[in-house]
Amino acid sequence: MEVWGSVVDCDIVEAFEDRVNALRVVCSPWPIFVDYVMDTWLRPHKEKFVKAWIDKVMHLGNTTSNRVEAAHWSLKRVLQNSMGDLCFCWDSINKMIILQHNAIKASFQKSLHVVGHRFKVTAYKKLLGFVSKYALNLISEELDRVKSVGFDKSRCGCSLTCTHGLPCACQLASFGVGSIPLKSVHVMWTRLSFEDIATEQSSSELSIDKEFEVIAKRFKELDVAVVQAKNLMKKAYQKLYQQNVFLSLISSLGYHPYIVDVVDVKADGHCGYRVVAAQLGMGEESWAVVRMNLLKELSEWRQEYVQLFGGDDRYEYLKKSLLVEHMSMAGTDKWMTIPDMGYVIANL
Ligand SMILES: [Zn+2]
Repeated sequence: MEVWGSVVDCDIVEAFEDRVNALRVVCSPWPIFVDYVMDTWLRPHKEKFVKAWIDKVMHLGNTTSNRVEAAHWSLKRVLQNSMGDLCFCWDSINKMIILQHNAIKASFQKSLHVVGHRFKVTAYKKLLGFVSKYALNLISEELDRVKSVGFDKSRCGCSLTCTHGLPCACQLASFGVGSIPLKSVHVMWTRLSFEDIATEQSSSELSIDKEFEVIAKRFKELDVAVVQAKNLMKKAYQKLYQQNVFLSLISSLGYHPYIVDVVDVKADGHCGYRVVAAQLGMGEESWAVVRMNLLKELSEWRQEYVQLFGGDDRYEYLKKSLLVEHMSMAGTDKWMTIPDMGYVIANL
């Protein structure tokens, strides 16, 4: 433990190898452990926890896993008495996240509207209301160093710029009596709301335009396939085929692992409507409400849907498929058919 501590606390790059070797010697009876520590932690991630490197990379203040641990702890507390089912747990987790979300929002509001006394100087003029209070405090501490550091880069060390993306003393000195420009602050500190502010940094990294193009192309191809299927195959096969189009599309594109909100509903012939009810947050057992609302939608816009489906027959068939006499298993004629019913769902 002591040797490990000396590795983590090592604050001189040159001394690091020696300390690692000492660790190797102490742990030599356990070669598998040594390999694991080396290959999984020390080689790839040393700059995240070894002192000598921590101040050289941008970590924006996150040098421990505290935040994750705290979230884990509060989650455990929320769930400790629950012998309930998944829905109950889901509900508890959801409530906890809403509370945390509100707490963060409140802190954003504070950053936007509450101005500390010492920030009422012109130096901060361009930052107030745009930068979090926490960051302003760090800048304020750094401003105190300007007198002793001046423009001297070697005396400054520039660790605030390097680790937090905030102007360090020597930079602050160069801004002089004017104000600190917003450009000198990392975009992370300027995020004071949950709305999607498109920044140059995030928009280029998070674009999924390409993926959407692929999906759109696949959908076009499928449209053709559905028409061909209609012409070539008997009605029963067609129904089965349509039920499976979306699932096969998803799995053929390999997107399944990336879909986060997967709901595995009961398979009783109402599954399509169960999914809609579940995703609307009503709980899957509300499938009958979904059927009823869709029936209303179809009746209200009869003309339009007859035209969309290409005739009265199809319209009546779809309308009938929504009607069920009892709450138990529904036959194939009551299943949700995509894409026709999909249009109704999307419109509603
Ligand atoms: Zn500096």
